[in-house]
This record gives sequence, structure tokens and C-alpha cells, in this order.
Amino acid sequence: MRALAAVLERTGGPVDVTEVQLADPQVGEVLVRLHASGVCHSDLNAVDGTSETRCPAVLGHEGAGVVEAVGPGVQLRVGTHVALSWMPSCGRCEECVRGLTHLCRVAWTAMGHGGLLDGSPRLSRNGSPVYHYSFLSTFAEAAVVPETSCVPIPTSVPFDVAALVGCAVSTGVGAVWRTAEVRPGDRVAIFGCGGVGLSAVLGARSVGAAPIVAVDVSADKLRTATELGASAVVPWAGTPEATARAVKDASGGGVDYAIEATGREEAMQAAFLSTRPRGAAVLIGISRPDAVLALPAVQIPRAERRILGSAYGSVSPHRDFAAILALHADGRLPLERLITHRLPLRSAAQALDLVRQGIPVRAVLDLDAHAA
Ligand SMILES: [Zn+2]
Ligand SMILES: [Zn+2]
Repeated sequence: MRALAAVLERTGGPVDVTEVQLADPQVGEVLVRLHASGVCHSDLNAVDGTSETRCPAVLGHEGAGVVEAVGPGVQLRVGTHVALSWMPSCGRCEECVRGLTHLCRVAWTAMGHGGLLDGSPRLSRNGSPVYHYSFLSTFAEAAVVPETSCVPIPTSVPFDVAALVGCAVSTGVGAVWRTAEVRPGDRVAIFGCGGVGLSAVLGARSVGAAPIVAVDVSADKLRTATELGASAVVPWAGTPEATARAVKDASGGGVDYAIEATGREEAMQAAFLSTRPRGAAVLIGISRPDAVLALPAVQIPRAERRILGSAYGSVSPHRDFAAILALHADGRLPLERLITHRLPLRSAAQALDLVRQGIPVRAVLDLDAHAA
């Protein structure tokens, strides 16, 4: 079938909305009619080359829609509403077997090739291959994806909210719930208040963390953090040391968990320096591949300060998407408040420009509105 899609022609090149061809779903694959896609900083990293993807590629890895067709052996029924996980899993590798499906070796290896799990793409244009981004490619009217990327959701969930659960929300909430396992009364700081960081604010509030200190360079983002449940805010103070001092002052002497969502080395240093003894910096943000993190080593053994890496919030998508959406339905995770901009598919490049300028908390492409 044919579908409109936003194609990144080459790293650093333009993002154009053009028609692409979608092959039929193969064994274990699903054709999803997409309704909404969030625009994530990782999409921009692919455009700018901070984290390259194979091109030409249809970007987007935070989507939701309705199952339209299934390949052989697929259990999902046509018509099922789904949120998409950008981390499918094989179920058989060493990491999957020990329950770490978000670290599936087969999927992480396949992701770099720009295909689906068998390494080949289902996207093409004029007979030439077009590559997937993180198995999904949600800046499009439809996508062929692995069955294990499809998480069924209630039909009552708005597609834009479901889309965000597919990346930003799971990454931020999961870092709190699953990577750090924050408990009631734990002190938490969050560095970087974009979609992921503010999701971490919501996640910290949902489990009774206190205080919750938000750190950012933007007064607007800090205001939003306060509205979403941060109990104190710290504007970036120019250096890691000065910022950490301010976080310590705001948290009664340092935090149990300093969650870092920007990927910048100085913010990671500030997060580490903001912890109390036995505290942990939880690193979510994606750095450049050549980034090196310098830390005062003596504080690691002497004060038992720790570093925890968090990939996709350590979530198990089928378990955690459902848990997140249940709290959303209950009003305890007001995820719709993360959405600040809505654009049609044909404005995908403009949406990426907004992200480059750091303006939206989350911009969402409304994939029903492309013709308007
Ligand atoms: Zn993302
Ligand atoms: Zn696996």
C-alpha cells in the first residue's frame, strides 16, 4: 500500500513528506494505521547526526494507531488499538530470558540496520529501500512493525496520549518506577524538563517522592514543572558544582535520585554531585557517541554514590504501558498536559525545528489531519 511519510533523505538533510510504499506484513508483523506521533529529541538527534540512523529513513518512534492487517502467525486482531514500543524483543536471547526485554540483543543489533527484526525494511520508494527508524517510523499515515512492538490499549485512550506513552512517558516514568525504584519520601531531582524529564516529575509524584526538585535553563519549563508537581525549582547555575549546591539547598542536603534527561556531560556531573550518600544519578539522556563523563571518583566508594543507566526507563512495555494508562485514566498521571503543540504530518520538518529550538514540552503530529 501507499502512504504519506516524512522522509529524512540523509543525515543533516531535509525532511520531506512524500509517498512511500509499504510491503505487506511478514511473519510476526503488523500493519498499523497511525493516528498520532510524538516528536522526540531522538528524532532530531537522527536529523542532526548526534545519533545517526540509516537513510533515507522515515523518522518517528512514538506512535499509536489501529491494527489494519496482520502477517502470518500474529495473534493481534484487526481493529485493536495499540501504542507502539520502539523496543521489540525476541523473547529468546540472554537478556530477554532474564527478563530484560528492553535490552534485547537481537533488537538492539537489528535497530542499526534500519530494517525490522529480520534486518530488511518494509518501506520503499520508486523501487529503492527506505529504512525504518527504531522499527517504527511513525511520521507516516501507516507503518509495518514487529508484533512485539504493539501494545493493545483501551479504545478510550486518546491516540496522542497513547503515542507519548510509547517513548517519552515510559522513559521518564520508567526511570523513576523501574530503574530507580523510587519509594515514598525519597528525595528526587530531575535535570532537564522536556517531555522525558517532566514525565519523570509526574512519575516521582505518583509514587510519593518528596521533595521533587526540577532543574532546567528555561524559566518556562520550570514553571511547567511546578504545575506538574515539582516542589522546588533550580535554574541552571552555570556550572555543575554551583547547580548541585543549589539542588542540595533545595532538597535538605542532597537527593536519593538525580534523574538526568538532557544527555549533556555537565548536567550528568551536576546530577551526580547533587546526590546524598548512597544516592544515585540516573542517566537517561542520550550523549554523543564520543562523550566521556568525568566524575570525582573518591565520592563513589566513600559515600556510596552510584550511577544507574536507564534505557527506555527499564520498562516492560506490555506491563508498564498498561500501568501508566491505568493511572492516567484515574487522573493520577495527567499526561495530556505534556502536549503543547499539535501539527499535521506535512509540518513534520517544522515540528523538528520547534524541538531544535527547545520550545515544545511535546509536539504531536496529528496523522488524521494531513489532508487538511
Ligand atoms: Zn523518543
Ligand atoms: Zn531478545
